[in-house]
Amino acid sequence: MSLLIRNVEIGGGPLQDVRIEDGRIVGIGHDLARAGEELDGRRGALIPGLCDHHIHLFGLAALADTVALDGVSGPSSFQARISAALAAQPVGAWVRVTGYHEAMAGDLTREDLDRLAPRHRLRVQHQTGALWILNTLALEGVIGGSNPPGLELDSQSRPTGRLWREDVWLRARIGAQPPRLAPIGKMLAAYGITAVSDASVTTDADAAGRLAQAHRTGDLPQRLTLMSGGELTAPTDAAFTLGPVKVLLDDHALPEFDDFLNRIASARSWGRNVAVHCVTAAELALSLAAFEAAGSLPGDRIEHGSVIPRAAIDQLLALKLTVVTQSAFIRERGDRYLNEVDPVDLDDLYRCASLLAAGVPVAGSSDAPYASPDPWLGMAAAMDRRSLGGRRLGAGEVISGLAALALYLDEPGRPGRGPRIVRVGDAADLCLLKRPIREVMNAPQADCVRATMIAGRLEFLSASD
Ligand SMILES: [Zn+2]
Repeated sequence: MSLLIRNVEIGGGPLQDVRIEDGRIVGIGHDLARAGEELDGRRGALIPGLCDHHIHLFGLAALADTVALDGVSGPSSFQARISAALAAQPVGAWVRVTGYHEAMAGDLTREDLDRLAPRHRLRVQHQTGALWILNTLALEGVIGGSNPPGLELDSQSRPTGRLWREDVWLRARIGAQPPRLAPIGKMLAAYGITAVSDASVTTDADAAGRLAQAHRTGDLPQRLTLMSGGELTAPTDAAFTLGPVKVLLDDHALPEFDDFLNRIASARSWGRNVAVHCVTAAELALSLAAFEAAGSLPGDRIEHGSVIPRAAIDQLLALKLTVVTQSAFIRERGDRYLNEVDPVDLDDLYRCASLLAAGVPVAGSSDAPYASPDPWLGMAAAMDRRSLGGRRLGAGEVISGLAALALYLDEPGRPGRGPRIVRVGDAADLCLLKRPIREVMNAPQADCVRATMIAGRLEFLSASD
């Protein structure tokens, strides 16, 4: 297992070669001798693989398994969307489509869907959520025994394929479809991501076991760090490592202070850090008070930090808390914030430059599927702080391209503690870019990634140059 990457820019310096053996970087220099496979870096930058420090893998996978109908305007675009979805699935697989409206292709029945999908189990949900329409194969997969009251029958008592308000029944009949993680692993690799921290509070031994298995089979090649709401044990083969205990606050029902302290105490008894979901100023205030009372440790985290009043910055610093931010929300939701958020609070949204300047550790992440999983989009948003509508939020929070990139280069277990560099002895978790780093960071975008390696294995190689 040996790979030589030629002609790459490392840390902005002159072109060099990098030799990888058994998953590690074993040599960096000029004109290294060839041994094994060779890849010409074509003068592109070689950087450490990116880490998404806050993502929800199952949520992202479930979304990827759902076909949305936005933008569909008539029968032909409806048909095209369904055909594309079916082509991506093996024969016999369930295909779930949401957001249907009669304006697209009229009142659908089983027969209409059979014509579109003769060999898959297709189910289409109406926009209102009140109605599912199933094709014959799908229907045969769920009916049997007594019919549910929502099963619509025609004049000859045959099912039309339409099921009214039978979500719970349908879910029970179909069974839990484990979302497919392989497409997620591939997508993340194409972004240059070699490590992720899953921030789901719901992760239990079963979910963690499935993620670990996906990692072992290579479906999810990224290094995994898992948060969880409760106790969790890491496997001995390091298929995942334990992240902080996640505390999810809900602004409508903030937990009792003592309950919060107990959760911190539990995390400590398991030898783990604490990561608190904080999207409002009230949640942040409560969290800071709890860390003040219970004591904080380096590695404790504020997730999102969506609203950080200036006065809270010193306290974050004193408590050594890391803020794990998602600049992409400025891009994707900025226009809404401008309409809905009190103007005096706008500068407190998703702070970045002011935290870094104060010395507060900051790390980057997507929070996908709630925002795009594309880290390059997050970097671009951190650099220009512009909404999709082109309006700027928190102009003082703009950071440079290299600083934006650095948010994604920390060790998964040490977000905000400083970016990794490409050096001999480290694991070969690498991202090869198509151009030198300064060029790429002038206008970061995902198609700048040429190749991604995890533990020396090539997990992505761009088809286009
Ligand atoms: Zn989240």
